[in-house]
Amino acid sequence: MDSVIPVNEPLLDGNEKQYLINCIETGWISSEGPYVNQFEALFATKVNRKFGIAVCNGTVALETAVLALGIGKDDEVIMPAFTIISCAAAIVRAGAKPVLVDADPVTWNMDVNQVAANITPRTKAIMVVHIYGLPVDMAPLLAIAAQHGLKIIEDAAEMHGQTYNQKPCGSFGDISIFSFYPNKHITTGEGGMIVTDNPELAAKCRSLRNLCFIPEKRFYHEELGYNFRMTNLQAALGLAQLERLDHFIQIKRAMGQKYHRLLHQVPGLQLPLPTTPFANNIYWVFGIVLTEEIPFNALVAMQKLGALKVQTRPFFYPMHLQPVFHKMSLFQGEHYPVAEKLAERGFYLPSGMALTEEQIHQVAERLQAILV
Ligand SMILES: *Cc1c(COP(=O)(O)O)cnc(C)c1O
Repeated sequence: MDSVIPVNEPLLDGNEKQYLINCIETGWISSEGPYVNQFEALFATKVNRKFGIAVCNGTVALETAVLALGIGKDDEVIMPAFTIISCAAAIVRAGAKPVLVDADPVTWNMDVNQVAANITPRTKAIMVVHIYGLPVDMAPLLAIAAQHGLKIIEDAAEMHGQTYNQKPCGSFGDISIFSFYPNKHITTGEGGMIVTDNPELAAKCRSLRNLCFIPEKRFYHEELGYNFRMTNLQAALGLAQLERLDHFIQIKRAMGQKYHRLLHQVPGLQLPLPTTPFANNIYWVFGIVLTEEIPFNALVAMQKLGALKVQTRPFFYPMHLQPVFHKMSLFQGEHYPVAEKLAERGFYLPSGMALTEEQIHQVAERLQAILV
């Protein structure tokens, strides 16, 4: 058997090199360089938003969004149990309380039917997270938010190029965010983007990103900010990647369709849903869940695949089972059976942009080999 099939590998064969060379030749490498504004403007346009604020990763984009909305002590934010820790961390660090809802067993997104019952007088926002390639059903959430005067924070970190009912993901939140980590649909190495239509929120995010400097009075501060700035080098990569987003989405959809064709008749596997009434999957990752007939869990399956040189990653580990939150007396005794099952039985296959057709066939073959 030849080399390891990596779980992710980005494609950097557009204008990336040319734009990076331009940074070096002009000496513009900091956040003051011209690519940052260009990347922000083009990105915001692509998701139908007025303002884009580039930051150094998706995690701090979430943190900035929560702070800009003024969420803090005694406030509650409803969010999915099945997601990355960045979501809950942003709420906890702001001094607010994350309130969890379970996942839908078929889409793996938050179960929107569980949101209303969790609203209290303290609820300030719903943090919506689109998981793995399919958007959350936004219409009922937007209705609930409007009815109760709640803000929407939309985590579209896995959703560049995806739409919900023909509208871009990232266009639904009071503030929406993206990540450009190398396994995302477009990458800047490390990076993130905040988008909004509200000029005051945009100004607040810009200020928080840049230490809350005051333009008229440098080094004089009325608020405490952060250095969350994106460099010109990162934005150069981002711009070149963004030029090819449509092509990247085609690659991902073709990958998903190939995996489906090869795996849909294999017993013991729950595959991602190819379509919902409001979107076609863009397969940020090709996740699978082992059904009850498989006598071992995801961890064992991943070890077996690793021995056959197929890299995989586990699904998210639910927020209510995180020791760090138990130490803070959060989520004790809470149970979200779908999120727990997804963590126990779910993992994802190699899903990167550079994955070849041959590698997809090899992954499918080796996966079937470990299941018998
Ligand atoms: C990747 C990701 C993030 C975090 O982004 P980073 O750039 O890695 O900090 C946040 N939310 C979701 C849903 C993600 O997939």
